[in-house]
Amino acid sequence: MTKPRFTFSSLKGIPDVLPPETILWNKIESAACEVFGSCGYDEIRTPVMEPSELFLRSIGESSDIVAKEMYSFTDKGGRGISLRPEGTAGVVRAYVEHNLPVRPAPQKFFYRGPMFRYERPQKGRQRQFHQIGAECFGASHPGMDAELVMMLMAFLEKAGISGLSLEMNSIGCPECRAAFKERLRAYFGPHLPELCPDCNRRFEQNPLRILDCKVERCIEIGADAPLISESLCPECRRHFDSVLALLTAMKTPYAVNPRMVRGLDYYTRTVFEVKSGRLGAQNAVAAGGRYDLLVSEFGGPETPALGFAAGMERLAKLLAEETLFKDLMEKTGGQPEVFIAPLGDAAGAAALVSAGLMRSRGIRVEIGWDGSLKSKLRRADKMGAKLVVIIGEDELKSGMYKWKDLKSGESGEIGAAEIPGLLSR
Ligand SMILES: [Zn+2]
Ligand SMILES: [Zn+2]
Repeated sequence: MTKPRFTFSSLKGIPDVLPPETILWNKIESAACEVFGSCGYDEIRTPVMEPSELFLRSIGESSDIVAKEMYSFTDKGGRGISLRPEGTAGVVRAYVEHNLPVRPAPQKFFYRGPMFRYERPQKGRQRQFHQIGAECFGASHPGMDAELVMMLMAFLEKAGISGLSLEMNSIGCPECRAAFKERLRAYFGPHLPELCPDCNRRFEQNPLRILDCKVERCIEIGADAPLISESLCPECRRHFDSVLALLTAMKTPYAVNPRMVRGLDYYTRTVFEVKSGRLGAQNAVAAGGRYDLLVSEFGGPETPALGFAAGMERLAKLLAEETLFKDLMEKTGGQPEVFIAPLGDAAGAAALVSAGLMRSRGIRVEIGWDGSLKSKLRRADKMGAKLVVIIGEDELKSGMYKWKDLKSGESGEIGAAEIPGLLSR
C-alpha cells in the first residue's frame, strides 16, 4: 500500500447518509410526495442559504435557534448569511418575492432538504440534518388545520412508521398572548433567581419560552405555571375547539398538551407535535402550526398560513426498527435478485442484453465483470444474490444459460427470456 497523499473526513456534525439508510429515506420521501400530492401540495425548492436577517425576523431573536444555534458567516462581499435552520422562512420569502399571493388561494407547497444549526453535535442532533415539510397559504378556516394534521399523520402511516402520538395546543393570537405573557411574568417573577440564565433572558424577551426550557429546575417551576388555554380570546378558543372537533370526528387520535408552546416566535393559534415513544428525550418527529402573521411581516398581504416539518433522521431511525421494513430490506436492501457471471468478451455482450431485459422489468441485476468464475460466484454469495446465471462459450452457443438458486441450491439451464420466471417461483 502506498501512503495516501491526502486524507479527508466530513465536517464535524455534517455526516454522510449511506445505503441502506438512503433506501429508508427514499421510502419516506416517496410516501410524502404521494400523500402531499394527493392533498394538492407541490414541491418548492428554496436555497440552503438566505440573508441572516430573514431568520432573525421570522424565527425571532429570542428563540434559541437565533440566539445560539444559527450557522452564520460573512461572505466575501461582507453580507451576513445563514445556512437555513428551518424551511418555513425561505418558503414564505419565496411566496412573497414571487408574488404568489395573487394566485388562487390556498397555495400549498412541500419541501425537503438539509437544514443547519451550529450547536455542539451530540446524539440525535447534528449540524446538518434534514427535514421534509409542508406549508399552506391563504386558508384561515380551522378545517385546514385539521386537514393539514391529518395529511401529516397519513404521510407517516404511508411511510410505515407506527407508535406515534399527536399532541395539540393553541397558543392564541397576539391579543390573547399579551395577556398570557403578563400572567407568566407575574408567575415566574418571584422565581427568577432559581431559573437558569437562559430563562432569565427569556423572561424579558418572551416568557413563553421558559415553558420550553429543558433544565430540570426550570421544568419543575414551570409545572404550576398558568396555561395558555385559560387566556385564549373567544375567537381563538372557537378556532381551536373546531380543529379538535374535526379531528375527533375523523377519529384521529390526539391529546391536548396545554404546555406545548413550540420554539419559534411566528406561531399563532394551532400548534402540534407528533412524538414517538421510542426515541428517548429527542422524541418529536414532526411539529408545526399556524403562522397567520408571518406573510405580512415579510411584506406580503395579510395571509393566514400554516405548516409543519418532520425530521428525516428520526423518521429513518424509526422506520429501520419496523419489522415490515426489515423484511423489505431483506428483499431489496441492496441485494441483487440476479447475478450474471459472464466468462469471456462475447459473453459480456450477452450478459448486458439479458441484464437490460430484466432491468427494464424492474429486476435488480448485477453483472460480475471482474475476477475468475470462482471469485464471481463467491461475490454473488456475499452480495446475497438470489439467483446466479453463468454465461460462458458453451452457453452462448446453445443459448441455454446455467443458473443456480443460491437460497435453495436448485440449479438447471434456461433460455435468457425465461430467467425472470425463476424469480417468481
Ligand atoms: Zn386570540
Ligand atoms: Zn431554564
